[in-house]
Amino acid sequence: EETDYKVSARGKLKVSGEGLCVGDYVEIENGVILKVYPRKNQLIRPRVSNVDGVIVVLASQPKPDYYLTDKVIINANKNLLDCAIVVNKQELDSQIIEEIQSQYQGVCKVMGVSAKEGIGIEELKLFLLNKTVVLAGQSAVGKTSIVNALFSLDLRVGDLSEKIQRGKHTTTYSQIISKGNISIIDSPGFAQIDTEVSDKDISSLYFEYQQVSNECRFRGCTHINEPDCMVKNLVESGKLNKERYERYKEIYNDLRKRRKEYE
Ligand code: GDP
Ligand code: ZN
Repeated sequence: EETDYKVSARGKLKVSGEGLCVGDYVEIENGVILKVYPRKNQLIRPRVSNVDGVIVVLASQPKPDYYLTDKVIINANKNLLDCAIVVNKQELDSQIIEEIQSQYQGVCKVMGVSAKEGIGIEELKLFLLNKTVVLAGQSAVGKTSIVNALFSLDLRVGDLSEKIQRGKHTTTYSQIISKGNISIIDSPGFAQIDTEVSDKDISSLYFEYQQVSNECRFRGCTHINEPDCMVKNLVESGKLNKERYERYKEIYNDLRKRRKEYE
């Protein structure tokens, strides 16, 4: 109904998982939540439910954090969510999108926008229609500004230094904003990699590698040290992006090291 209600949960409310969650569909009566509908999915970090997709927001300023982007894509793929990259602040720098496109070609859609000038916002709306999407990305790339542009809102936007400052001291929470068949979850917590992703699973969460892995000599090839590896061949011939592959190796090795420490 596009109305906000202040509610509380009925004492005996039955909820699976660890309780209510941003994104839940519920039945309410007189300010009391009576029932939580079954969830399509539930993410752990951020703890949100019924999500269809994830958008990573990047910009020329602050400089793109590609590790963060890769990790968000890993998490999205693990949860079988749609993934896209939005490059904001296009009016400042229209070149950087080409670099980002070459890094993520065959991985996900890359769209350029300017929240400030309203460029690309209508196309973005089309992409978001009938979905619940989580916005992820570094502080100050313009996530709040994009939400403002999409919904003609006036949520508070901070400058870079202020944001970084604030980020250190505030507790994190997610909020969902819905209007006209678009729901966006503005969430601070999608940065860290899911601790349940193991180095053993990670290659299958790089879908562009997964697609060609049947042409690797070894079944279950991790594309790191194995001979006759199709992924490595394609990286060498420039058909797969080298920088993304180098980051893959680093993320893989980090996860492996972490697992060995626990074993
Ligand atoms: P968030 O931390 O990702 O939510 O970023 P904000 O929306 O708070 O924006 C951070 C800073 O970037 C603010 O100073 C905004 O004015 C600025 N900003 C946001 N979008 C754009 C844009 O499209 N172009 C330019 N030049 N600056 C923008
Ligand atoms: Zn391989």
